[in-house]
Amino acid sequence: MKRSFFTYLLLFLSCLTFAQGRAKYVFYFIGDGMGVNQVNGTETYLAALEGRIGTTPLCFGQFPYTGLVTTFSATNGVTDSAAGGTALAVGQKTKNGTIGMDKGHTTEIKSIAEEAKEKGYAVGIATSVSVDHATPSSFYAHVKDRGMYHQIGKELIEANFDFYAGSDFLKPESKNTNDSKDLYSQCKDAGYVIAKGYDDFRKKSKKADKVILLQKDTANKEDRTSIPYAIDRPKGALTLQDITRAGINILSRNGNGFFFMIEGGKIDWACHSNDAATLFKEVIDLDEAVKVAYEFYEQHPDETLIVVTADHETGGIALGTGAYELHTDYLKYQKQSAGAFSKTIAQLHQTKGKDFSWEFVRQQLQENFGFWTNVPLNNRETERLQKAYKDFCEGVAKDTRTLYESENIIASTARKIMAQKAMIGWTSGGHSNGYVPVFAIGNGAKEFTGRIDNTDIPKKIAKVAEYAQ
Ligand SMILES: [Zn+2]
Repeated sequence: MKRSFFTYLLLFLSCLTFAQGRAKYVFYFIGDGMGVNQVNGTETYLAALEGRIGTTPLCFGQFPYTGLVTTFSATNGVTDSAAGGTALAVGQKTKNGTIGMDKGHTTEIKSIAEEAKEKGYAVGIATSVSVDHATPSSFYAHVKDRGMYHQIGKELIEANFDFYAGSDFLKPESKNTNDSKDLYSQCKDAGYVIAKGYDDFRKKSKKADKVILLQKDTANKEDRTSIPYAIDRPKGALTLQDITRAGINILSRNGNGFFFMIEGGKIDWACHSNDAATLFKEVIDLDEAVKVAYEFYEQHPDETLIVVTADHETGGIALGTGAYELHTDYLKYQKQSAGAFSKTIAQLHQTKGKDFSWEFVRQQLQENFGFWTNVPLNNRETERLQKAYKDFCEGVAKDTRTLYESENIIASTARKIMAQKAMIGWTSGGHSNGYVPVFAIGNGAKEFTGRIDNTDIPKKIAKVAEYAQ
């Protein structure tokens, strides 16, 4: 009896070991600029929407394994997205501004995506910003300067991955080389099908082996550098969820498995603009894409690994400004990003002429930020907005530029007052050294606990997915 019990036990244990196997399907989500407070703030905001003080966890916030990740680069206490992306892609720290090379710019370092491709996995690289931006390019390009967008585009084609997605290329035509063809023609020559928007993807994907999914030309006319913020999203715009579904469609055709990196690139942009409502909606939007991966995980729980992390924190966001209070609930009344509201105001100024009165602008502020009706303002705050209106009309206040956006004084004053009312503080318009979180579920997820250096994350993924063997 005893012996046969142990025989069964051994059999059971060996089945368990077999079930563990390699992580055949890897989802690697990177929330650009998503520090611990960006996540905690979003979960606090979600609870506030339910009228509660506390947190309502995101999907990835409930993953069973979590850790804290250090993010400094080889040359700076505060990393940029190129060195941060490179650390997460190749497992080595480098100089700020560098993509996929060492800090001396002498050696190209292979990324886990390139290793996965060599091992016969399908590979997808996707983002909500342009396909050649710092984070995605860290997985397929090797250049000394992240601004070499045309060269990065050429290396995207050379890497020969199965799926790419983002808003578009930033420099499809080259002014410096003798290329007679632009990047779109070069992609087609290399066997890529270019889809513009999700409907176009659905039409073309059945007959395509390799796909580059970009947003529609109409969306590019508004902004070709990124897909719209979740808070500003027009109907029919390409979303990170669409991109994740499209990627799974293409990549899961490979019987050997896949590696799929998906970046929420505009979490960082919202933080550079110190725009909390826009930020929290971007984190929720990244979570919607994670949910698509989670559905896949539920169908393949033993073979799938999902890792969610960030390259660095942006803005030095603080949840609380000193009064032992927090009013994230006010942020639900903000209907547009500060950048989009700035454009709305500028357009109305052009079209309304004499009707562009203080009463009219006050109405706009009420509709877009809930001021006075839902978010009470004192006289001083009202006077600040009135002065901003006056300065704007008289043309004495220049637009201010944040890293990725331009704002007129009415929009920036409204955004700052909103942050004060919500009691959210910002340290800067740049990045910080703060820890970023990592969340993991599935095969190999237990590797992602405790205190981890950013360079160890790709090494751990390569280990559990057996890319390096
Ligand atoms: Zn940034």
